[in-house]
Parts: sequence; structure tokens; C-alpha cells
Amino acid sequence: MSVETLDYECADCKLSGSNLSLGRPRYYVNFDAEVLMSVQMGYCFMGQHISAMERFPEAAEISELEAALVAARTQFAEEQRLAERNKRWWQTKVRLTDRASIISHDIASATKRLQRLRILSALLSQRVSGPRCLQCYSDQCVPLPKVPPELGYGLLDTRPILLGFRHPQCGGELSVREGIRFSMNWKPQYFDREGRPLE
Ligand SMILES: [Zn+2]
Ligand SMILES: [Zn+2]
Repeated sequence: MSVETLDYECADCKLSGSNLSLGRPRYYVNFDAEVLMSVQMGYCFMGQHISAMERFPEAAEISELEAALVAARTQFAEEQRLAERNKRWWQTKVRLTDRASIISHDIASATKRLQRLRILSALLSQRVSGPRCLQCYSDQCVPLPKVPPELGYGLLDTRPILLGFRHPQCGGELSVREGIRFSMNWKPQYFDREGRPLE
């Protein structure tokens, strides 16, 4: 099966890379629990390659998600009040409106995400090393700028877009475009809290 990917390349040298390996499931092993790793694309100075790297959650990410959850719960309560008001005498139970069931679904998934983020940031708060490259495990790497959201959603616009990042080795501009690759049947990979692979 083929999947859409983002392909990176340097304008002035042969450096290239793909975001395909972002999809590999990776977990920190924390006592007997497994915590899903967050990943992003990066440039690794040690290996001089473009590769997936760890991403540490930011405090703002958690507080924004918390605020969004409060807002969603308020909305949900509002919807329920509305439904209660429109309830007929013969209805024993208040039916959720469509909007309310969408909101309740959003609340459930945001709650799950928030739980994972909290566990992840607690786990990473003791971290000594910085985020690691997931190809050579060096922590001498930097995240690449975010890709414009119109890329990567199957629109398959094959024109390359400048990333706004210069290849530190040669000074060439990095660009990104949509590509197609064969999907991989990734085996999950496990890490210690310092981001070192356990196998
Ligand atoms: Zn280059
Ligand atoms: Zn590396």
C-alpha cells in the first residue's frame, strides 16, 4: 500500500529525507506503563541527516488544551439545558442533540490527549538529554519549521515549498513537497526515559 508523505530536499546538495518514519509507534517504558512518544521532523547535526526526532510537549500546549476542555464542557452543559427545555412530557430521557454528541465526542478525545500530555510531560520533566534524533539517537538536533497545513492532506500539490531553514552544512535552502512512498509495517519501538532505545 502506498501512503502520502512529505519529502524534504536541499537546493544545493544531495541531502534529502522523508517524514515516513514519523508514523512508527514509539513508546517510553515507564515502570510497567508505555507512554506514546511525540515526534516531529528535525535536522540532526551529528548524523547530518533529516529525520524524525522526539518532541517534548510545551506547557502552553497543556494549558491551551485545558482551556479548550473547559469551553467544550460549558458548551455541552448549554446544549443539555436546551435539550431539557425541548423535552416532551412523554420522553423519559433527554436525547442528546447532534451538536451535543459531537461536543461530547470532542471532550472525550481531548481528555485522552490531555491525560497523555500530562503523563508525558511528567515523565520528561526529569530529562537530562535534549530531544533525540530517532535515527542515530544523538541529541544534537533541531526541529525543522512546521510545514504549511495545506501540505500533507492528500492534495498532492507536488510543487516544493521553501521551509525557511538552511542546511547548516552547505547553506542551501530546504524545501518540502508531497510524495508517495510504500507504507511500512513498522514494529513498535521502546525507549527509556532518556530517549535511548531499549533494543
Ligand atoms: Zn545542502
Ligand atoms: Zn541523527
